[in-house]
Amino acid sequence: MTVRRKFSVCGEIYNIYFKPPIKENFCDLHPAEQLEQRADDTEEKAKVRLATYEEQTKPLLDYYENTERLKKVDGTVDSETIYGQLEKLI
Ligand SMILES: [Zn+2]
Repeated sequence: MTVRRKFSVCGEIYNIYFKPPIKENFCDLHPAEQLEQRADDTEEKAKVRLATYEEQTKPLLDYYENTERLKKVDGTVDSETIYGQLEKLI
């Protein structure tokens, strides 16, 4: 969660692992402008979100997995591919 970088003018979002900009810390479309880290992507906030996941989301996932009703979708790919996966599951 601390790996997202957002370009402040055009709003393009990069990810240092899944969608890195060609030149580190600079937008591909606007190379003069530097990327910034999202305000909610700080380490402290990421810890809170992870704790919330462990306490509230994980038990729900376990419940549905144990009753064989959990369907998984790869969220690291592009949005069109994710949509396609969701359509097949519904
Ligand atoms: Zn840009």
